[in-house]
Amino acid sequence: MNSYVYSFDAPGNPDRDLLGGKGAELARLVQLGLPVPPGFTVTTAACRQVLEQGCRPAGMAGDLAHHLALLEERTGLALGGVERPLLLAVRSGPASSMPGLMDTVLDIGLNDETVVALARVSGDERFAWDCYRRLVQMFGETVLGVPAASFAELTETLLADRGATGIPALGAEGLRELVERGKTLCEVVAGRSLPQDPRKQLDLAIDAVFASWQGERARLYRRRFGIPEHLGTAVNVQAMVFGNRGATSGSGVAFTRDPVTGELGDYGEYLTDAQGEDVVSGARTAVPLARLRDIDLPSYRQLRSIMCALEHHYRDLCDIEFTIEDGRLWILQTRVGKRSPAAAFRIAADLVEEGMITEDEALVRVTGDQLTQLMFPQLDERSAGRAVAVGLAASPGAAVGRVVLDGATAVALATRGEDVVLVRPETRADDVPGMVAARAVITARGGRTSHAAIVARGMGLPAVCGVEGLGIDMDTRRVSLNGQRLFAEGDVITVDGGSGKVHHGHHRTVPSDVTRWLDGEAVESPLVASVSRLLAHADRTRRVGVRANADSGRDIARALRYGAEGVGLVRTERMFLGDRRTYVERVLIDSDSEREAALRELTALQRESFAVLLAAADGRPVTIRLLDAPAHEFLPDLTDLAVRAESAAARGCPDESLQARLAAVRRHHEANPMTGLRGVRLAIVRPELVVAQATAAFEAAAELRERGRPFDLELMVPMVSSAAELSVVAASVARAAEDVAARRDRVPYRLGAMVETPRAAVTAARIAEVSDFLSLGTNDLTQLTWGLSRDDAERSILPRYLDEGLLRVSPFATIDQEGVGDLAACAVDGARSTRPSIPVGVCGEHAGDPASIGFLAGIGATYLSCSPFRVPVARLEAGRAAVLAEGCPPDRFDELDLPFLAAVG
Ligand code: ADP
Ligand code: MG
Ligand code: MG
Repeated sequence: MNSYVYSFDAPGNPDRDLLGGKGAELARLVQLGLPVPPGFTVTTAACRQVLEQGCRPAGMAGDLAHHLALLEERTGLALGGVERPLLLAVRSGPASSMPGLMDTVLDIGLNDETVVALARVSGDERFAWDCYRRLVQMFGETVLGVPAASFAELTETLLADRGATGIPALGAEGLRELVERGKTLCEVVAGRSLPQDPRKQLDLAIDAVFASWQGERARLYRRRFGIPEHLGTAVNVQAMVFGNRGATSGSGVAFTRDPVTGELGDYGEYLTDAQGEDVVSGARTAVPLARLRDIDLPSYRQLRSIMCALEHHYRDLCDIEFTIEDGRLWILQTRVGKRSPAAAFRIAADLVEEGMITEDEALVRVTGDQLTQLMFPQLDERSAGRAVAVGLAASPGAAVGRVVLDGATAVALATRGEDVVLVRPETRADDVPGMVAARAVITARGGRTSHAAIVARGMGLPAVCGVEGLGIDMDTRRVSLNGQRLFAEGDVITVDGGSGKVHHGHHRTVPSDVTRWLDGEAVESPLVASVSRLLAHADRTRRVGVRANADSGRDIARALRYGAEGVGLVRTERMFLGDRRTYVERVLIDSDSEREAALRELTALQRESFAVLLAAADGRPVTIRLLDAPAHEFLPDLTDLAVRAESAAARGCPDESLQARLAAVRRHHEANPMTGLRGVRLAIVRPELVVAQATAAFEAAAELRERGRPFDLELMVPMVSSAAELSVVAASVARAAEDVAARRDRVPYRLGAMVETPRAAVTAARIAEVSDFLSLGTNDLTQLTWGLSRDDAERSILPRYLDEGLLRVSPFATIDQEGVGDLAACAVDGARSTRPSIPVGVCGEHAGDPASIGFLAGIGATYLSCSPFRVPVARLEAGRAAVLAEGCPPDRFDELDLPFLAAVG
């Protein structure tokens, strides 16, 4: 029973793991009754044995001989036969498509004798020699390792000798000469040539396919895409059919729908008198598939009905390779076709409309990543021309603006209505305001998981990172590339974060249709209709809520347009960036009396901001997080102060207030600010800050209530590690509530804790007892679980870990399920064990990451809160997660639609 070789027409459900993708699909095509040249598959199991043991498994030789004999019997041809020679194609085929494996070798079986037989049987000498010269070249390149360039050179020379314009202009004689010279070339370069024994040709080709699994290119690809090393590849051996038999033959590719737009129709190309990769090689120009109607109407009709049948079988876009031999159509391969993000949405929605798939199935056929792509503005490539600098495509989208070299300048120019592009060596937390003000960001250092890249993607801001050789001179305010002047501050440039390219000057960018629609414009396009339909279905299906992280009324308005059901995180520290930083500084370090003044001002400022936010949310929940930033972010730079104080002293006029400030800043200086006075700890050390912020929130709410407007207020305490900490803060908050109640009105609120330290996750059951809700702060939870500071890690540690394969993706981009994710799940379970109905949200970066959303929904999160731009993505992914959790929709490869196929000729 256990064979190393299976015929394409073997009964039963083709096993992809054993037969590889191509083998399984060929078997399926045969079962569907389609015209497929007969053949067989040598299994991945055989390959694994060869890779492990260095020799073919016992039994493989017998299986191979048996199936070869069957094939000869079926075709009435013989491998190496001088009467009627059998020619074979040897095609590699791993379980999932994998570039880097050995290419297909066609026309195996030809030698100096069988070529004569082929000429006789076909009555076409030229055709026979054309096949032979192809074999010599393909075998030479792929099996013997002769460089393609050497064959190209040899061909050029021969064409020049004969004064011919191309191979089609050569007669049989010229092609025979090409064969001879090709054989000699192999001898010279590889030390051996094409064996004359066809069985030997076949064996060498099979071995070469197996060996290519271990090749450098294939290994790199597997490492990059996480394909296991041990799988191995199958090899398909198939009778040849010939598209190179003159005007009534040819080969082509067909798509059942346009893989770029998703539109239904005739897509693909056809080339008359061609074999193998001639169609795609571009040596001769292929014609659009629709022209086949004029060239060979019966074949065209048959192909159309097969395309239709295959679509009904696979219930998806199919990509088909076919060959016509002397008016007879053969199907060589089919697979579910790759497609652009736009086509993915369009096709999924259309297939629902056509009754081929359910809405649930459609939903799992599109991804949040694809939706993200559709939301970025696009660079009009035609107007852009050549790029002047290239870096990593870190965050897609295109933008135009003036170069600015620091955040303050970016903010200043942006307030005047200028579009700016922030160019920095790298970015850090204090560059965020500059990034918010900018249209795009470029960094000299850092990869796709750098601060710049992650923040930019979260904001939907185009970013090009890691532009090697980029020099930024802050004195001359100029930017250079490898020492050459590139541009000066103020120059207009265009950035395409989707390709990593930077252009001089202003090039057209266009907001995408999908974004214009999300923003409320009436856009009528099939794509928008498809996105709309699938998002609506996601909303009906998903069981997890979607909120947004937003710090301004404008952000909230956009988030609501994009479908958010509330605000899951307001970062109040963002209200104290730039000039406002000093309010916090004064609270932290000044004397009691000055502190009180600062607190009053701070309360007034925040009351205004909070009122705007609560009003913008219009009765939906708004979670205001108490100040959460390491104290040092609000204090002046210690070194800078010290230098200033010293130089004043050196000049003989010591500045006393400077000295006092220096002393205070020194007192507050921390060795590890990230694990120092921040979050709940700041709230406990400086309860007056909590009272000020809570008072501001309650007064803002009271104000709304007085104006008859709805609101739903939540206060959230960051960095909590124990229930006791939260209780202390709760008392301060209650004090503020009492005070506002006495003066104005009692406002309802909920108080919750962020779960972002491992201790909080582990003790969530107890924290839940004193919280109205919890929110998982997965960014800090990741930092603290790994004991790794994100900004430092991204510089050198993570890139190295990714290179070495220690990590497949940054844990800051996609949640680390088995570590951080496990803690998060433990927090949810713990909290619900004491309070079964407690809401537990997620407000970290991961809440908007397509690859994390399914997991977060799965552990029972109540809602996900992500940046406004990511809200549609989160809705879509949450819908998909719900469908997938119900168990996958039926495998589209599993059922046969035989009645339909009866129609196929
Ligand atoms: P890939 O995985 O690169 O698509 P294939 O195994 O499909 O490689 O082979 C490449 C090309 O070789 C096909 O597109 C087809 O044109 C040609 N080819 C494959 N098998 C045969 C065959 N049995 N007869 C004729 N041509 C074939
Ligand atoms: Mg193919
Ligand atoms: Mg945090």
